[in-house]
Amino acid sequence: RTAAGETRRPVARLTVLAGPTAVGKGTLAAEIRRTHPEVWISVSATTRRPRPGEIHGVHYWFVSDEEFDRMVADDALLEWAVVHGTHRYGTPRAAVQEKLTEGRPALLEIDLQGARQVRQTMPDALFVFLAPPSWEELVRRLLGRGTESAEEQERRLETAREELAAEKEFDVTVVNTEVGVAAEELVTLMRSHPYSPEA
Ligand code: 5GP
Repeated sequence: RTAAGETRRPVARLTVLAGPTAVGKGTLAAEIRRTHPEVWISVSATTRRPRPGEIHGVHYWFVSDEEFDRMVADDALLEWAVVHGTHRYGTPRAAVQEKLTEGRPALLEIDLQGARQVRQTMPDALFVFLAPPSWEELVRRLLGRGTESAEEQERRLETAREELAAEKEFDVTVVNTEVGVAAEELVTLMRSHPYSPEA
């Protein structure tokens, strides 16, 4: 593009937010949706069923296994992963591209496997790790409901230990002590890293 002497058009930068299970990524995304409507948050496709109050097209695109298969076959997903060993979740590619070319800041709230895939395909994105205030607090949030068996609890803690070790793969860490504060920090980070060269 530059070789052809054309002006480079700045595109907004993609921000990828990931972190361990139960750290509060979903709550943080909801807070940003409420307080910073200028930030576009990608709506993922998922094969899991909606929970009460969840709206198709707002929280997720709830799709069948067949529809998800088709999206994968059509290369319509920027990344996708099986999360918690059960359902598939993925980021529709077209909407992300569209927002970025419009110059609108875009945020993906995805799991670590998905973040690693985006790292491969869009290395210019800003990768933000959402960390718990402490290991003890993460354990409390993970086991909070207290409805799992001891074996299940141990499995979750082991996963959390591995997930916390992924922090070093990220550009920056936001600590989720209080959701309102973490939301402001994330939006400030997005503002201070607004553009990447046209890909
Ligand atoms: P939940 O089912 O509780 O809404 O989400 C479960 C997990 O799926 C969360 O850790 C969330 O970050 C992850 N997730 C949601 N959307 C996507 C996506 O599009 N891609 C990937 N890789 N993970 C996702």
